[in-house]
Amino acid sequence: MKALYDITPFTLLDFPDTPAAIFWFAGCNLRCVYCYNPDIVFGTAHIDEEEALAFLRRRQGLLEGVVLSGGECTTYPHLLAFCRCIKLLGYKIKLDTNSMRPDVIKVLIDNKLIDYVALDYKAPEAKTGEICGGGSEKRFWESFKILRQSSINFEVRTTFHPELLDEEEIITMAKSLKRRGYERKYYVQIFQGGVKTIGNLSSSNHRIDYEKLAPYSTVRS
Ligand code: SF4
Repeated sequence: MKALYDITPFTLLDFPDTPAAIFWFAGCNLRCVYCYNPDIVFGTAHIDEEEALAFLRRRQGLLEGVVLSGGECTTYPHLLAFCRCIKLLGYKIKLDTNSMRPDVIKVLIDNKLIDYVALDYKAPEAKTGEICGGGSEKRFWESFKILRQSSINFEVRTTFHPELLDEEEIITMAKSLKRRGYERKYYVQIFQGGVKTIGNLSSSNHRIDYEKLAPYSTVRS
């Protein structure tokens, strides 16, 4: 079955301590206005599983991991079986997810198919619809709880555009994470303009008070 929009053959940046490839799954269950990947979100898959697995066979011994990204890989109906095939080839798997499918995250963990997760914390409930065109904070917390109760290494991250969220909201989100026992790094990625996005966002003139965010998060610009 066709699964992927594209493959990035090599990255040292996207999977901690692991030379990896990135598999970009076509389609997504959200429509974030700041999304940098509209071609993937609205595009169709044209690389099938067998082609992707053949690529991994050729890279055995060179790569150690695969990042499942997109789009949103948890919407792919054959993800479990596909991950099993990747694991059989000896690769570690990192899941990049918008956190809206806690059920899929749980099944992947229960079957020992993932090794690391980057979990998006999109926005407070009141802003989720406006920023993401759907979804819910509740589902983020369900995914978070599943990860907290597992032994999987994971990180939480938020994309920050100061006209969509303000510093106080980010701080509230960071405090909510802390209250629930999250002590790892909280990555806040600052929106970069100059690229095509789903909401045709431009970069903001609003000045970001990095000092204010620093005690609560690790800011990536
Ligand atoms: S940024 Fe939003 S719309 Fe884009 S791929 Fe991620 S979850 Fe989907």
